Amino acid sequence: MSIYDQFQVRTIINAKGPSTRLSGGFLDPEVSAAMAEAATHCVDMAELQAGASKVIAEVTGAEAGIVTSGAAAGLLLGTAACIAGLDPGKMGRLPDTLGMKREVIMVRSQRNFYDHAVRTTGARLVEVGLADRYAGAGVRDAEAWEIAEEIGDQTAAVFYVAGGNSQPPLPEVTRVAHASGIPVIVDAAGQLPPAGNLKRFLAEGADLVAFSGGKAIGGPQGSGILAGKRDLIMSAVLQHLDLDIYWEQWDPPQSLIDKHRLIGAPRHGIGRPCKVGKETVIGLLVALRKFIAETDEDRSRRFKGLIQRLQAALTGVDHARIQVTGGTAPKLELHLAKEAPRTAMELCVALERGSPSVHPDPSRVRNGVVVFSPWCMRDEDPERIAAAVKPLLRY
Ligand SMILES: *Cc1c(COP(=O)(O)O)cnc(C)c1O
Repeated sequence: MSIYDQFQVRTIINAKGPSTRLSGGFLDPEVSAAMAEAATHCVDMAELQAGASKVIAEVTGAEAGIVTSGAAAGLLLGTAACIAGLDPGKMGRLPDTLGMKREVIMVRSQRNFYDHAVRTTGARLVEVGLADRYAGAGVRDAEAWEIAEEIGDQTAAVFYVAGGNSQPPLPEVTRVAHASGIPVIVDAAGQLPPAGNLKRFLAEGADLVAFSGGKAIGGPQGSGILAGKRDLIMSAVLQHLDLDIYWEQWDPPQSLIDKHRLIGAPRHGIGRPCKVGKETVIGLLVALRKFIAETDEDRSRRFKGLIQRLQAALTGVDHARIQVTGGTAPKLELHLAKEAPRTAMELCVALERGSPSVHPDPSRVRNGVVVFSPWCMRDEDPERIAAAVKPLLRY
């Protein structure tokens, strides 16, 4: 019996990885225990975020950081910080950006569904560059000089989505942005592992970086990290925290919020709907510690073990070739033969609708490939997946 049975919800086998649609991954018992314990006391949320800031600073090399309700929330808060700075009046007016610097420059080929978080603040995205390489027409994409040329007196920030394929390279982007005093916000939501990326983007000059807590870090599904420059983090947390408090009464921890630099108390800001609970903050911090305690090699070996079991259980599968890919995130690919009884898309759909419901990674179905990721597999899953796949590929 699972807790989900009580609410007539079925559990699924997640072979796609920690995607939000499939509820992220699952928590290590140590993380759930920490969250349960955190729930039994009350704390001052500003103090809790100041404690989180110390841990995040240590782990990322940033000056400061906060726990957010996901990477997307971090992008919203980070953009709001770049627009409003430490001005409580501006904070209060967002998302009305009339009279404020409100343009956020972004490479056109990096546009994605999550940039809604940036636009939520009232920012206006300004796209640069032509993604010629994606059209198949050529090899080029946006170049740093195009970003430099677009920077003007309305520019609040440059927004950069990190990825193996992102162009131009981040160090070139931060160089041209900083030459005009413009901060760079990096979406690194899915850029872990390798764990070295916790430090990398800041080391390459990013002023703010957002990570997802519910993906590889293994934190609560609705958690994330925003790390970076002290003033920007101070602005972000001011627009995030609940500030239903008298000015004279308010005594925030100075390491995170330097009250003396404010002309007055900001009100609940644009980030207030992105609230994080104390359990989430503690869960994320404990998960983060566990994530960096395990080496990339050990993590990869652990996942490889699940993939090897899946491969063994799939032995003799009809009309498909198995290929295992390595690296920090090993995967198993099922390359379907032309004469297979189902297309890759049809196999995915049949697996999802089956019982148990198995969700593979469908990102390559157009090429006839169904991918299985070990990231969110439970120990009993590899054999159950193979048992579901085999009959579906038999005539
Ligand atoms: C997952 C993801 C996000 C959103 O992260 P959440 O933690 O779910 O808010 C943003 N950007 C990219 C590139 C992502 O992959």
